[in-house]
Amino acid sequence: MTTRPWHGGELRWNAETEDWTILAPGRGGRPHRVTRAACPFCPGTSQDTPPETWRLPGDGPGWRVRAVPNRYALSDKHEIVIESPRHDWDLATGTDAEVADVLGAWQHRHRALRPSAAQVVVFRNHGPAAGISLDHPHSQVAGLPVLSAGTRRELETARTHHRDHGRRLADEQLEAALSDGKRIVFADDHVVAYAPFAQVAAYEVRIVPHRAHADFAAATAEEIRATAGCLRAVLAALRSELGDPAYNVVVRTAPRGYESAPFLAWSLQVVPRLEIPAGLELATGVPVTTVTPEHSAARLRTAVAA
Ligand SMILES: [Zn+2]
Repeated sequence: MTTRPWHGGELRWNAETEDWTILAPGRGGRPHRVTRAACPFCPGTSQDTPPETWRLPGDGPGWRVRAVPNRYALSDKHEIVIESPRHDWDLATGTDAEVADVLGAWQHRHRALRPSAAQVVVFRNHGPAAGISLDHPHSQVAGLPVLSAGTRRELETARTHHRDHGRRLADEQLEAALSDGKRIVFADDHVVAYAPFAQVAAYEVRIVPHRAHADFAAATAEEIRATAGCLRAVLAALRSELGDPAYNVVVRTAPRGYESAPFLAWSLQVVPRLEIPAGLELATGVPVTTVTPEHSAARLRTAVAA
């Protein structure tokens, strides 16, 4: 029985899956969809959050984006990025420049938390089915003391592929998507959004830069601007096609020590929560989806272009 102490809880090793389970009893007290008047993330209510760790100043005394420690932290390195002072702002309806500010905050806090974590995860939950507990637009950055089994396996797969084929697996996947264009949602000179060949959920979208590299936090300002515009367009297309579905956005990037690995490539993964995983998924870990990526990409491509 292997355990490790964990911020207010415990990590337990699952010998069957060779992966960690996080026991975080302190997370049970999280607020759920509090009213706007009681919102701890709106300006003027900062006494309800721990002191901020970072801010992108606005004009005058205000801020555009800020980071605060998560009061219901998963680890001692777990921050909330408050994406806008506006309670009703959203990535899908903001300007490209505002979304770029949010991505810039993700890069900054990723770099800040990285030295003391095995891996830093950056994610955004939208809608109750995706695990949201507060409506004010926010995302999260958390440093974990261990590598998950999924991360270890992906590292090994990417490394082996690069050794055997002399190129990144991610480059081949992008090339396959570009070859006939049927799974392309959006493309410009800097970034491509496409539906993965073997998706994990219906309407999943990957956003990748043409110039692949391992570390999201090292992406240039130009790449971040292009990625932000693409992410906003994809989320707006999901909203117009599917009526504001719940989704998760995850930054897939190199864990600590692999920032320059030639076999890795960062990407953004957008996973709508349209279907509830059922028994077959639980028994096998195999995703079952009812919409092909060729179909979802065609719909989203039309919506992005509209
Ligand atoms: Zn608010």
